[in-house]
Amino acid sequence: MSIEPRYAPLFEPLKIGPVTAPNRFYQVPHCTGMGHALPRTLAAMRGVKAEGGWGVVCTEYCSIHPSSDDHPFPFASIWDEGDISNLAAIAEAVHAHGALAGIELWHGGSYVGNLASRMPSFGVRSMPSREDPIQSQRMDRGDIRRLRQWHRQAALRARAAGFDIVYVYGTHGYLVSEFLSRSFNDRIDEYGGSLENRSRLYRELLEDTRDAVGDRCAVATRFSASGHGTEHLSGEEAEEILAAFGSLPDLWDIVVEDYDEEMGSSRFVKEAAFESRVRRVRELTGRPVVGVGRFTSPDVMLRQLKSGVLDLIGAARPSIADPYLPTKIREGRPEDIRECIGCNICYAHNFRGAAIRCTQNPTMGEEWRSGWHPERVPEGHGTVLIVGAGPSGLEAAHILGKRGFAVTLAEAEDAPGGRVTRESALPGLAEWARVRDYRTGQLSRMNNVSMYLGNRLTAADVREFEADYVLIATGARWRRSGVGRSHAVPLAVLQGEVLTPDDVMDGVRPQGWVTVFDDDHYYMGPVVALKLARDGANVCYVTSAGTAGAWSAYTAEQFRTQRELLEAGVEIIVNHVVESYDGVHVTLGCVYTGRSHTRGAQSLVLVTSREPQESLYRELSGSQEEEPSSRILRIGDCRQPAIIATAIYSGHKIARELGSELDAVPRARDRVEIGR
Ligand code: ADP
Ligand code: SF4
Repeated sequence: MSIEPRYAPLFEPLKIGPVTAPNRFYQVPHCTGMGHALPRTLAAMRGVKAEGGWGVVCTEYCSIHPSSDDHPFPFASIWDEGDISNLAAIAEAVHAHGALAGIELWHGGSYVGNLASRMPSFGVRSMPSREDPIQSQRMDRGDIRRLRQWHRQAALRARAAGFDIVYVYGTHGYLVSEFLSRSFNDRIDEYGGSLENRSRLYRELLEDTRDAVGDRCAVATRFSASGHGTEHLSGEEAEEILAAFGSLPDLWDIVVEDYDEEMGSSRFVKEAAFESRVRRVRELTGRPVVGVGRFTSPDVMLRQLKSGVLDLIGAARPSIADPYLPTKIREGRPEDIRECIGCNICYAHNFRGAAIRCTQNPTMGEEWRSGWHPERVPEGHGTVLIVGAGPSGLEAAHILGKRGFAVTLAEAEDAPGGRVTRESALPGLAEWARVRDYRTGQLSRMNNVSMYLGNRLTAADVREFEADYVLIATGARWRRSGVGRSHAVPLAVLQGEVLTPDDVMDGVRPQGWVTVFDDDHYYMGPVVALKLARDGANVCYVTSAGTAGAWSAYTAEQFRTQRELLEAGVEIIVNHVVESYDGVHVTLGCVYTGRSHTRGAQSLVLVTSREPQESLYRELSGSQEEEPSSRILRIGDCRQPAIIATAIYSGHKIARELGSELDAVPRARDRVEIGR
């Protein structure tokens, strides 16, 4: 198919050293929670990105040696010849669609604990690891010499595995960053002191890699153009390195100094936020530059190229949310792009040691295991009634419509979107509305799907409809009883103005002294507290966890969440639970000592847990004792209240498998097998 002329510059090939990228779409290295542990799952996922049009597809961080072992996080590894075949499967899957395969060689330095390999970690000096009570060993000259050999051997293996682009990792706090740091690097030899000395190891690794594989592979490097913070590497020093190293690599992959910002969720960081910090790299180095910015708009991408900021549009999250993003731009149908919402659920699951998943793209990570394709679905037929147009109902309608079913979607409210519509009106969550907008956009072009808004269905309505299948997607509501992680039974004393996030989303605005009790630990508690504070209340945020929005540490949001609350004047009390509320005083108990204290509160907002809205399902399918019907099914939060990604996945799975025996569809398992 011809290229949409307006976007033609995005589809021009680009020479990167000895290789040529077929277009400007570059999937930068990103973690997947798969790494060395799930090789088939990983290769299929990277292959689908190439199939969807990404001209370059890279691995995640790939450890060069057992002295850099990030266990339990599933990193990739290239420790010996035995790793080559798994990595070659990635390169082959990427090459099958004409894209280039990149590999990000990595040594974590002091950052890692080496929990699996049990080797001492090493660094520029002895420093604590990120997570464990383990310090690294200070590197001597012999260690530096060995490190260079390992890196060189890893580069040779990468070439043998078929990779086209080989990285030297120069940032993100790992080994090279330690050497670059004015504060960490206290060496008195030729690797310490002046910037030239501190950057010597970086230079050597670039030269070694070029020497080892530069005849056939491009050498790329990941580096922060704005330094690593003034105490480590200032912006001016970073620019000195860019100018001095200029053409040593064939490609500069540019990030920013603060990883939480680079990985910033849409609550805190917007599209193309780093433009000003990347602008000078091309001029300083004379080499092609790739950079990220959670780009989803083709016009913003085009601007990056035309203004000379970037040569290649780097993406991790936009390529996860839509592996077919480049194809959709090429074919002039940007309205079909499944835009990343910046929720960081993809990133969170690496930290949970689980394979990647995505809120917007339920097929992410399921390409091999479930045989799911992000764009293609199996054909089917029949009539389906879906009750509830929240994320799960919308996703099910979308997939069933695509499969060819005749779908009727009934929604009680006057607007579709369910929790997404409601939550996206809370501070910072506006981009989450993309979950709804992508699906309603797709549905509006399907004439086999009809959506009826303002239609609250009863069991009689559903029976009367006589659909072949009924999907109940009626969601969940926040509990008003206090039941949650900390309280197994409702609070005995609960009087006065007791609210839930649903009330706040419905527009209730308590004034005066308001206590928000967060026993949920993700975004809802902090976001509700912030909303009420901004609307004039004196808010005290109480959580049973040790930090505000504790789970959002996994989504790289916790620090900013707590800072934002403090800056909004919200008082924060951690490690306490609400024990009672009499309408005037709230009693808080310490989770450690059990000691209680009382404070005044004109209102209490309970963010504890949610109650599945399953009464319609029960009425239609019978009591809990009965065998569930295979014709009446529930999906999303009314089955299992969870994150939005789970609701979308649930709607997608049932919609994809409807007509076959549910849950009987075999799933492949990536596992270690003893060959006999
Ligand atoms: P999920 O995340 O599982 O999709 P949501 O809570 O976001 O769940 O959405 C559930 C939707 O179902 C809401 O928009 C709600 O208005 C709608 N709903 C609940 N009960 C009915 C009903 N009886 N008839 C039609 N729509 C309903
Ligand atoms: Fe974007 Fe969220 Fe999907 Fe990650 S999980 S790619 S942040 S939509």
